[in-house]
Formats: sequence, structure tokens, C-alpha cells
Amino acid sequence: MSAEVEGTLRGPEAYALARRALQEMEDCGVWPTPLNFELWLHYVGDPEGPLGREIQRIMRDGESFTEQLSEALATNYLPRARLTDEIRDAGAQLSRELKSVAAAMSTAQRSQRDYGKTLADAGEGLESGAIDADGLKRLVDNLTSATEKVQTVNDTLEKRLQASTREVVKLREHLEQVRRDAMTDALTNLANRKALDEHLTRACLEADENGQPVTLAVIDIDHFKRFNDTWGHQTGDQVLRYVASVMGRLGLPPRLAARYGGEEFAIVFPGETSPIVEAAMNTIREEIASRILKRRSTNEELGAVTISVGIAQRVKGEGMASLMERADEALYASKRSGRNKVTNAGQLDQAAA
Ligand code: GH3
Ligand code: MG
Ligand code: MG
Repeated sequence: MSAEVEGTLRGPEAYALARRALQEMEDCGVWPTPLNFELWLHYVGDPEGPLGREIQRIMRDGESFTEQLSEALATNYLPRARLTDEIRDAGAQLSRELKSVAAAMSTAQRSQRDYGKTLADAGEGLESGAIDADGLKRLVDNLTSATEKVQTVNDTLEKRLQASTREVVKLREHLEQVRRDAMTDALTNLANRKALDEHLTRACLEADENGQPVTLAVIDIDHFKRFNDTWGHQTGDQVLRYVASVMGRLGLPPRLAARYGGEEFAIVFPGETSPIVEAAMNTIREEIASRILKRRSTNEELGAVTISVGIAQRVKGEGMASLMERADEALYASKRSGRNKVTNAGQLDQAAA
């Protein structure tokens, strides 16, 4: 689908698709932002695809398409669609390469066969004994030119194989880059939601094997809507990059820091317990709160932003969804109790008991 939208679909069909997308958006009361338009193009082009089905589900449930929801949809579905196209293109290119190698090989085989036949004929000629000096010279000339021919064909095959090897290496590097892009949030360069899911799943599996703890922190910028409304979306983006850089510094491997929603981040801490993570998160919470931000272009002071944090340490056998949910509950406890706070889900559990 994505190829249709981005590439092959041109002319009247493309206009029809675009009109249908706009009409659907209007019917459902969805704002025609560029991102929504991109989402809806994919949706009307492939209503039964994963994105299409998810959009239908959201409409059925009567949820409204907020900016955040659209961004989450794009993060979860669009890169994947793009990735699929890239992989398909790479596959097509690979099969073209293989076909041309196969053609070069069969040419080489044919020429080897011809060469074999030339040699056999020459052998027969010699055995029969009925060969004079001229005949012998012709025979040697024939053999020489046949040898040269077979060498040329072999050289061509070798060059073809070398070119293919280079092409395959290039393809592999390109796919590796595509894979990295699909795992990265474009605004902040942090890992995205998909990468977070994969990392956390892997951390949970490893924890099951080695009995080590895993702790998850979720982070949400406080009153960020107000910040955007006051200073503008672009300045808001700069703040997102700044907060992301603080998260990235803390989330070095084997940890992983991700932007998993609009102004929401998460850090996975494999092998670490929640009290240690709590201390680390409090340090960066204070660091962020104490930093007076400035608008880059004008040096104008924007004040500070604060973050609220929820932390949950995985209990034995706990799945990713439940761990995320507990961390989220802890985050909302931080929000409820005044923001600029770190809450450990373990303490919530104790309080409940
Ligand atoms: P709370 O303290 O309860 O979290 O309040 P909030 O305003 O931060 O939360 P809310 O969920 O109401 O609003 C989140 C805001 O984040 C809304 C949206 O404008 C902003 N946001 C989301 N993604 C981006 C982005 O990519 N860039 C910018 N500049 N703002 C974004
Ligand atoms: Mg939020
Ligand atoms: Mg917020």
C-alpha cells in the first residue's frame, strides 16, 4: 500500500484515493493534518490492512483521533509499511542479481561443453594419424582460440560474481539502515515504541533465564500542552529533544531509552532493582527541573519543564503488558500527587495492602 501512495500510483487513481481519504476524514470528524492525511491514504488504500483495521476499531470504540493517537498510529504502522516495501524492493533486486549470475553461469557451462567437444575432436583427429603439418597447425590454432574463448567467458563470470557480491553487501547494509530507521524516533533519535517493545520483551525473557531483576521507568513531561501553547510547537520540539538527550545519557546499553509517545519516554533497566532506578530517576528529574531553558534562536528564557516518573520492577513471570501497566499507574500517581515526582509501583502496592 505504501508503495502505491508514495510511488506507483499516479494520475486519476491517485486523485480518487486522495479524495476518498479526505471524505472519510470529514465524515469521521478527523482534522486533515498532514499526518492524518497520510494515515488515511493508507487506510482507504488498504482498509483491511493492520492500520486500516486499527483505525476501524478506534472509530467503532468512539475514541477521538488526537494528535497523540495519530502519532502513535504512525509510529506503530507507517514505518512497518515502509519497511515492508524496502524489503520487497531488496528482494526483487536480489532476485535480479541471482538471475544474471545464473545466466552468466549457464553461458560458462555451455562454453565449457563446447571446449570439451573441441578438445575431443582434436584428440580424434590426432589419433586417426591422418594429419599433415597444415592440419596440425589448424588444429593448434583452433585449440588456441577455443581456449581464449573459454577464458573470456570465465573472466566474465568471475566479474559478474564479484559485482553481485558487492551488490549483495550493499543491499545488506541498506536493509540494516532501514531496520535501524524503523526502530528510531525521527525527532529525538531515541529508540521508538517498536524498539522498546522488542527490548523489553527480550529483557523479560533473559530475566526468566538468569533470575535477574528488570525495572521499567516511564516518564511524562508535565503540562507539556501548556508549554506548547505558550511557546509554540517548534520550541516544544526542542524541549522534547533536550529531555530525550537526558534520557539517552541515562539509558546507555544494556539499558534502553525510548520515546514511546508524544511527550512520553521509557527506560528499561535490565539487571537493576527499583530502588536503584528510583534514585537515578530522581537525579535526572531534579536536573531537568533545575535547568532554565532558553529559546535557541533568541536566547529568551522559557523557564523549566518538569517530568513525572513511574517505576515498576518486574515480578517473577510478569509479562510486558502488565509491567507497563504498573509503571503507568505509578506515573499517574506521580501526576495526581502534584507532578515533578518519581513513584515506585512497589510502594503503591504496599500502600494498597
Ligand atoms: P500532564 O502533565 O498531565 O502530562 O499534561 P500534558 O499537557 O503534558 O499532557 P497532555 O496529554 O494533555 O498533552 C500532551 C501534549 O504533548 C499535547 C501535545 O501538544 C504535546 N505533544 C505531543 N507530541 C508532541 C510533539 O511531537 N511535539 C510537540 N511540540 N508537542 C507534542
Ligand atoms: Mg502524556
Ligand atoms: Mg504530559
